[in-house]
Amino acid sequence: MSDKAIRKIVIVGGGTAGWMTAAPLALKLAKTCEVVLVESAEIGTVGVGEATLPTIRYFNLALGVDEADFVRKTQATFKLGIEFKDWGHVGNRFFHGFGDFGPPIEHRPAHMYWLRMSRTFKDMPSYEQWSMAAMMARSNRFMPQHDELPSITDAYNYAYHFDAGLYAAYLRDYAIARGVKRIEGMIAGVEQHPESGFITALKLRDGRRVEGDLFVDCSGFRGLLIEGVYQAGYDDWSAMLPCNSAQAVPCAKAAQLTPYTTSTARSAGWTWRIPLQHRTGNGHVYCDAFTTDEEAGRVLQDGLDGAALGEPRQLRFTTGRHRKSWIKNCVAIGLSSGFLEPLESTSINIIETAVGWLVQHFPNRDCRPELADEFNRLVAARYQFVRDFIILHYKVTERSDSEFWRYCANMPIPDTLKHQIELFRETGHVTIYDPQGFSASSYFSILMGLGVVPKQDDPLIDAMQFEQLLAHFASRREIITQAVKAMPEHAQYLARHCGAP
Ligand code: FAD
Repeated sequence: MSDKAIRKIVIVGGGTAGWMTAAPLALKLAKTCEVVLVESAEIGTVGVGEATLPTIRYFNLALGVDEADFVRKTQATFKLGIEFKDWGHVGNRFFHGFGDFGPPIEHRPAHMYWLRMSRTFKDMPSYEQWSMAAMMARSNRFMPQHDELPSITDAYNYAYHFDAGLYAAYLRDYAIARGVKRIEGMIAGVEQHPESGFITALKLRDGRRVEGDLFVDCSGFRGLLIEGVYQAGYDDWSAMLPCNSAQAVPCAKAAQLTPYTTSTARSAGWTWRIPLQHRTGNGHVYCDAFTTDEEAGRVLQDGLDGAALGEPRQLRFTTGRHRKSWIKNCVAIGLSSGFLEPLESTSINIIETAVGWLVQHFPNRDCRPELADEFNRLVAARYQFVRDFIILHYKVTERSDSEFWRYCANMPIPDTLKHQIELFRETGHVTIYDPQGFSASSYFSILMGLGVVPKQDDPLIDAMQFEQLLAHFASRREIITQAVKAMPEHAQYLARHCGAP
């Protein structure tokens, strides 16, 4: 081991981000390096964050986590995507599923063929019928991919809904079993090297000192180190994503355990519904310039499909990101790096990705600024394109029934998103700026779901034999229908394989 190697990593914060950082660092580094996590029960965690993207499976897999054990212990359910209600207009309903609408044909995504044929054949069934994930979700069925399923049905993926507190606890046990030391205490100050400005130690309120070589700031919205010590600066995106408040409350579990999140647009924001095995998570994300907290609370309570389990929790946020996530020997991960509202469940995904990039660019004690620059470039791009994808949901809606929706229709948006919308509206094409981010099928689902229908068809598809295409699509749809019919109900699958005690 080089004498420049990091000998001690200090993680500040024990929320989802803190333990999601501690677990892989413990797995990779605990033999060569001490890993310590400091958290304060007095401050607590944000306590929300229950819906994920399929990448969480690969994160867990890399840790060697057994899926059934994890699902049981976090009261998790499976998630095939998000059902959007009332977003395009009141009464509108569409599904953003994990997966595509079939393999590409001649380098064009399958949805472009559907678009062309639906113009000629007015009785073409909805494109959702070519999405395995949407069809499974619509019939409330679930099972993971397996060898006996026809290969056509491969095109779906899944994520989880889980209890955020239980997930953090699960990873805490994992990390502690691999040598991570947990310190309970309130951080009251920081010591820095007088010349380099590197953080050398945390000072706890009770007088203890926690020294380290690398400090990972997972302190949540307060950004204790990245902002408190280094004043990274904050890009405020609330002009394009005006929601700045949320209320969250769990309710008794519903009769039906849906394998998807529901997002319902409201007059000044939207509400979520996340089914877990033991309860249902609910929340209302809204902009307080267009409604009051009291009214937002009423909307939330009226939408519950079970008895509320406690009082709603009020949260405030400013959408945006800290201009840098890595400064000197401090790396911010989680809410201390930035926040985008949970409309597409992207925060935990950004945590997974950032932890992966930290491992990939793991520094020596000198923390070369080039590594920090590269990490910052990657994180900035990820935030930017997730931001664009979320703005899209608000911007192209046809809703104009409240001041909030009229604001969204008229608000300025980034040029990158403007290009995306115009490209699709005119030609049906989608551009992918971030290959590890949302796919063309995701953009298609949202744009079409919200009512944006391309004006032109692809000339190459125009020149193709429609009979063959029709037969291809008909047989695909039949295979999907039969495969879904043979699957167990989501609740049945859970009870049989990973039901919580
Ligand atoms: P926190 O949970 O706030 O943890 C901060 C930690 O720092 C705590 O342990 C605290 O004790 C510690 N700390 C802070 N200051 C000190 C100090 N001075 N001394 C000692 N310790 C300190 N994400 C998703 O992916 N899916 C979702 O569905 C989703 N829904 C969300 C809904 C809402 C309304 C909000 C606001 C967020 C949502 N998120 C979601 C985001 C998700 O909740 C967070 O990304 C995730 O919980 C990570 O939080 P964190 O660990 O960064 O911060």
